Amino acid sequence: MIDLADARRLLLAACPRLEPALLDSAGADGCVLAADVVAPADVPPFDNSSVDGYAVRTSDLAGAAEHSPVRVEVLGSVLAGSVAGQPVGPGQAWKVMTGAPVPAGADAVVMVEKTSATRERQLGAPGDRVEVLGEVGPGAGIRRASSDVRAGEEVLAAGTVLRPAHLGVLASVGARQISGYRRLRVGVLVTGDELVTDGSELRPGQIHESNRAMLLALLARANCQPVDLGVAGDDVAALQERLSSALQRCDAVLTSGGVSMGDSDPVRAALDRFGGLTWLQVAIRPAKPFAFGLLPGPAGPVPVLGLPGNPVSALVSFELLARPALRHMMGHDDPYGVSILGIADAPLPRPHGDGRTAFLRVSCGFGPDGRLHARPVAGQDSHQLSASAGAGGLAQVKDGQRVEAGDEVPVLLLS
Ligand code: AMP
Ligand code: MG
Repeated sequence: MIDLADARRLLLAACPRLEPALLDSAGADGCVLAADVVAPADVPPFDNSSVDGYAVRTSDLAGAAEHSPVRVEVLGSVLAGSVAGQPVGPGQAWKVMTGAPVPAGADAVVMVEKTSATRERQLGAPGDRVEVLGEVGPGAGIRRASSDVRAGEEVLAAGTVLRPAHLGVLASVGARQISGYRRLRVGVLVTGDELVTDGSELRPGQIHESNRAMLLALLARANCQPVDLGVAGDDVAALQERLSSALQRCDAVLTSGGVSMGDSDPVRAALDRFGGLTWLQVAIRPAKPFAFGLLPGPAGPVPVLGLPGNPVSALVSFELLARPALRHMMGHDDPYGVSILGIADAPLPRPHGDGRTAFLRVSCGFGPDGRLHARPVAGQDSHQLSASAGAGGLAQVKDGQRVEAGDEVPVLLLS
């Protein structure tokens, strides 16, 4: 058997990282930046009003108060997107809306609530007179040019995993295209002669197939483009053909089933015939068997990752091995998920003496103590998918380790 850490190292080293490409920044949520983004210009590009109010000269407002208002003459209104026609002179003001450029001559904006203007009396027409009911300091109500981003500043660094607010930042500096790692097209090929996919009545020995929808959905959530390659029987030659055609349209392929010790483990055999099989017995429970190979695609080697067919094993294998490999290919410097030291609320039993690290499916949540609390789901066998479906994490328990209620245990959070 090989340690999980070693298996991961081997796998990541074998899986080629994508070449960076020009991506449409608005559609790049979840993608990794391949180059720093430098702002070509200031944000905001000009001083503008942070309130609806009146752009004034603060020197005009000395002594202004509710009981002794200062009256100024309104030159007109400036909306966001337009500019004032003339500067503010002594005793004058422009009505300005939030986001409107601050007119020349003004050094503050008094919010409308601090004036005699009301909903009924808008006081925005040339010649209107508005009473200011309090003093403000220079700069009040003004958002300065470049107070968000300065021209020439690095706004986002290479390696950033883009989130929705980052897309907003990119748009705010006018970066319509970025250098980044695109979404991987990842095929899912499910194998097994016993599998029924259309929900039809089962004949003796058959079962309903469960891994295809699960893996396709996991891929979509992992920011990949899932490609449904259907379900294949256990015929090695047919599988080889299916894989060959998948290479034409996928950057990577996940298979389910057919990688164990059995007599007819066709995925293992098919990869072997391609001549690039690495077959691992990973020291984890569940999901011990794992196969991978690099097959020749039109644009370079295409990793084929062979997950075990037992549904819970397929899930755990995806989380511990396939997901990090795919994230690595998509430019993630930290391809592994988040592990938190949680508290076991119940014992976490596991068989002993197998030399494997158990990843028990746990339901988990944060308690009033601010700590993550974990409790094993009922049904830890690798075929018991319904028990595992609600699990929020994988509690990591080494061989020989006893975890009792109240003990600390590392929990890998499932996304
Ligand atoms: P295998 O990894 O192909 O040896 O399969 C191990 C176990 O998982 C067997 O009991 C299979 O019937 C079951 N199995 C394999 N693939 C699937 C699948 N896609 N959906 C449900 N069960 C499966
Ligand atoms: Mg099988």
